[in-house]
Amino acid sequence: MKTPYIFAKRFVAGESYDVAEKKVRAINEKGNRVTLDLLGENIKDATTAAQTVDAYIELLEQIKTSGLDSSISVKLTMMGLDISEDVCYDNLSRLLDTAKAHNQFVRIDMEGSDYTEATIELFKRALKDYEGHVGLVLQAYLHRTAKDVAELAELGADIRLCKGAYKESAAVALQSMDEIRAAYKEYAKILIEKTSFPRMATHDGSLVKWLLDYAASEGLAKDRFEFQMLYGLRESTMNKLASEGWKTCVYVPYGTMWFPYFTRRLMERKENVFFIATTLFKS
Ligand SMILES: Cc1cc2nc3c(=O)[nH]c(=O)nc-3n(C[C@H](O)[C@H](O)[C@H](O)COP(=O)(O)OP(=O)(O)OC[C@H]3O[C@@H](n4cnc5c(N)ncnc54)[C@H](O)[C@@H]3O)c2cc1C
Repeated sequence: MKTPYIFAKRFVAGESYDVAEKKVRAINEKGNRVTLDLLGENIKDATTAAQTVDAYIELLEQIKTSGLDSSISVKLTMMGLDISEDVCYDNLSRLLDTAKAHNQFVRIDMEGSDYTEATIELFKRALKDYEGHVGLVLQAYLHRTAKDVAELAELGADIRLCKGAYKESAAVALQSMDEIRAAYKEYAKILIEKTSFPRMATHDGSLVKWLLDYAASEGLAKDRFEFQMLYGLRESTMNKLASEGWKTCVYVPYGTMWFPYFTRRLMERKENVFFIATTLFKS
């Protein structure tokens, strides 16, 4: 049986662009940028992957027409990474051609560790032709991120740093939250030192505080990095940071294919399960 959208409403801005657009406008009005994610993952056939790119291109055009302050976030498995890297790259470059022509920005989300190597390689390829229009995500929990962050920071890449949302084994990823936080801080420092505008994606109060303290102790300007959080989480914190002059960006997912995204949010925190239950019972 299909799970009704009402369950996902807290984390997903709507099932259509028109509904999501109103939410984005309200978020922009509070001084936050947005990155829109048309939900979906793991497309296995070339025709559907090409149609997905058409939908992403339409999304870039809709953002431009409606005058929203929004980039987009995409997953390479939506653009054919499970078919082949070449199919995926052709689709990615078609999307980035539009982004470049309209002076827009596309961020490549990071998926499970089976895709990390290919995602980074395709990103590095894209960076040569589309610098300023494409960025990537790195996950602090992966052991390999120590090497990836050093290499990509040297290239001056536009990186969103997050902890990592997928279930990974101890062979590939740190398992304890203390170790993940320590890695996050180490990589954040490298990105702040070496790149012009890194994006710090976390709802973790201790990391947000650490970032604010670090900025104060290093005398960093408020536009040296950006705070990023997910739609539906810590909204008042984001609005407060924005009102204090910090750069902020809310990741806003929408679309009908919300189930895997929604499941990851539930797995992260038991409070999220509680919130879904109260949302449901209130409506
Ligand atoms: C903008 C953005 C983009 C992302 N992109 C990706 C991606 O491409 N790939 C990927 O793998 N993952 C991505 N993630 C998810 C990320 O990897 C983590 O899984 C997710 O953010 C949970 O980790 P956390 O640091 O936010 O806090 P958690 O580890 O979930 O929480 C740590 C602590 O923070 C506090 N906290 C957390 N949430 C709240 C809340 N709502 N209210 C109050 N306190 C709270 C609590 O004290 C909690 O114990 C993204 C996250 C964000 C914010």
